[in-house]
Amino acid sequence: MTSRPHIFDLTPDTLGELIAGWGMPAYRAGQVLEWVYQQQVTDPEQMTNLGKADRQLLSDKLDFTRGMVLGHQLATDGTQKMLIDWSLSPQEATSSLNVLGDSNSQTECVMIPANDARPRRTACISSQIGCAVGCKFCASGLGGLDGNLTAGQIVQQVWQLGTKDKVGRISHVVFMGMGEPLANFAEVTRAIKTINAPWGLGISGRRITVSTVGLPSQIRKLGGLEIPITLAISLHAPNDVLRRELIPWAKSVTIEELVDAGRAYFNESGREVTLEYILLGGVNDQPQHAQELAQVAKKLRSNVNLIRYNEVAPLPFSRPADAGVRLFQQTLQTAGINCHIRASRGRDIAAACGQLRHEHDQRTSNN
Ligand code: SF4
Repeated sequence: MTSRPHIFDLTPDTLGELIAGWGMPAYRAGQVLEWVYQQQVTDPEQMTNLGKADRQLLSDKLDFTRGMVLGHQLATDGTQKMLIDWSLSPQEATSSLNVLGDSNSQTECVMIPANDARPRRTACISSQIGCAVGCKFCASGLGGLDGNLTAGQIVQQVWQLGTKDKVGRISHVVFMGMGEPLANFAEVTRAIKTINAPWGLGISGRRITVSTVGLPSQIRKLGGLEIPITLAISLHAPNDVLRRELIPWAKSVTIEELVDAGRAYFNESGREVTLEYILLGGVNDQPQHAQELAQVAKKLRSNVNLIRYNEVAPLPFSRPADAGVRLFQQTLQTAGINCHIRASRGRDIAAACGQLRHEHDQRTSNN
């Protein structure tokens, strides 16, 4: 890693200021960023509308390296998953000694295609390396937190998934990969600005979702972000007793406090909040849980997304039966709640959060 400013961390203003200081006209910043985001070119040598001296200056002064893709998998349903290492240099990554890398510097991201009336290509990205929350059912929380990603590293995941997939550009972004996005608030909000900016990835705020287990003060702050993103609260249990068993951080935040923060977010942003609920067989998927969940959703006037659990060895949770999932949904709908079951994608490539990194880590320690 170098201490030079990284291209994915810069904006037209910050890059313009830097290059003006090196004697280049500031307007060249727009040209450089156009190469990066519109032409998907990160080698200054290929930026052919710049003079040779300017191209050299950019190479010398800025960091254009990309996270090293250690694993890339394609599922039968078109879902793609990448394991990225943020510490390996290109030389190390190609050397047989280091090719496995170190899981303490790796994150995952996934591209999920959906061929609806308007085809979608959703990037599910990580905001941290590992996760401190430690949800009992999640592979990402197994090893704790190893660090925050920078805004540039967050942006780069969307960029990389867009270039890996030759069919089309990324249309939607969800912060549902590794990490708690609101625990890395400054970098995540900076990344959202670049993902949304017309000079950046140009993805509408309405197509960007931040999913959080719930930090009430940060949820309120997010309401002040000028970009109208979607906030998803990962509830996963309809009462505090069960939630605290599943999500250690819930010991310090009640569902009532989350509902209050969600309401404040709605009042500030005008955007409806979504409740995410992972159904764990025999744990939180019973009819009484659906009824309790309906009461929480009513208070927040939110819709509910149900997600069937993807099993992760060695965790002791199982995927619920389809009939039970449909009954759970019907109970919510009968109570007047708008409720969807999210389609399971990429099961054949371990697409659950943290699963690929965990499996890669197991292979590394067995070698
Ligand atoms: S589910 Fe999300 S918040 Fe919970 S441990 Fe996994 S990555 Fe962290």
